[in-house]
Amino acid sequence: MNVLVLGAGQLARMMCLAGTPVGFNVCAFDVRSNKVVHPITLTSVHDNLASAIEHVDVITAEFEHIPSDILKICSDSGKFLPASQAIKAGGDRRIEKALLESANAANAKFHVIQDRQDFDKAISIIGLPLVLKSALEGYDGKGQWRLKSQQQADDVWQDIQTFLAESRPEQGIVSEQFVQFDREVSLIGARNARGEIQYYPLAENVHVDGVLSLSLVTKVEPALQQQAEDMFARIANELDYIGVLAIEFFDVNGTLLVNEIAPRVHNSGHWSQQGADTCQFENHLRAVCNKPLGNANLIRPTAMINILGEDQLPEALLQIPSLHIHWYGKDKRAGRKMGHINVCGESEQQLTQRLQQIAKLLDISKFPALERYL
Ligand code: ATP
Ligand code: MG
Repeated sequence: MNVLVLGAGQLARMMCLAGTPVGFNVCAFDVRSNKVVHPITLTSVHDNLASAIEHVDVITAEFEHIPSDILKICSDSGKFLPASQAIKAGGDRRIEKALLESANAANAKFHVIQDRQDFDKAISIIGLPLVLKSALEGYDGKGQWRLKSQQQADDVWQDIQTFLAESRPEQGIVSEQFVQFDREVSLIGARNARGEIQYYPLAENVHVDGVLSLSLVTKVEPALQQQAEDMFARIANELDYIGVLAIEFFDVNGTLLVNEIAPRVHNSGHWSQQGADTCQFENHLRAVCNKPLGNANLIRPTAMINILGEDQLPEALLQIPSLHIHWYGKDKRAGRKMGHINVCGESEQQLTQRLQQIAKLLDISKFPALERYL
């Protein structure tokens, strides 16, 4: 089957790598250059978007900030999955919060802000500290402010006001209670048109400066997994979701609060390439192409380490058993997601030992989440 992915980054590339042997021919639309390209070679494969839409069986996306005219053309073709409502919820925190409320999925207390009055109201109804997030276009912790004390309120509001003045009129701010979480976890699942769902085990995620650095999947914790799956099912059913959906949670003493959803394959699911029976990229393609889903079971404890802003790694890493490097073929830029490392162990203890070996070989200032293994 022929699949067009909106967005031509590493997620489209990994869908292509996973899907090609299974018989999914993946091409990708680069929204910046307006070209339809092969996701790995980046050479043009169709004259334009219209001819690609005509030619493919299914259209899907690797990101949620899709220009609305392009999303409309793709939805109007009747080939786009998941439904554009899911993409909109992933791309606008106001729609996302409304969705979480209607799906009865626990989330941090919030208030939508347009002006100073709303800002002051948010402080009084939610209390401090507050996290303020741009409603549109936020990713990797960008477009966020923290308000810790009333004394900072004028300065923070000044920054937000400048930001809003420079943004398009639809931009807004969602203020959120600062959650004192014990850890962050995420659930990746795939749902097909028949409403069948395959859930991956929860990944524990370590973020540094708002960016994912390390994901760990060592075992299934039944009570937490059940909570996450229940919320996932409610959200996915509410959207009649088809494809892979990721949900990020805060774990507060064993109770999960949804942080956000991503209507696509997700960085915290990259571990599944080596740690799960079927990886998230193959399962996304299976789901949107209306095929039976693959088993999402954990086959061995696995960790994923993001490579940010680096295009070389010590070769000695390759001597570590069950370690795999995935480069994205991108030009080096500070902080850019350049690739990731997956490493597995036959036991949690063996995985920890391998992470300790990795931590010794890498420059820890570039991989700060590995400091715990030194
Ligand atoms: P991405 O899409 O790359 O996951 P994002 O820009 O959409 O990132 P969020 O996931 O909302 O941002 O936030 C980034 C990180 O900031 C979270 O993973 C978490 O560590 C922290 N954070 C966000 N919201 C809160 C909150 N309400 N309380 C405490 N910490 C938070
Ligand atoms: Mg996030």
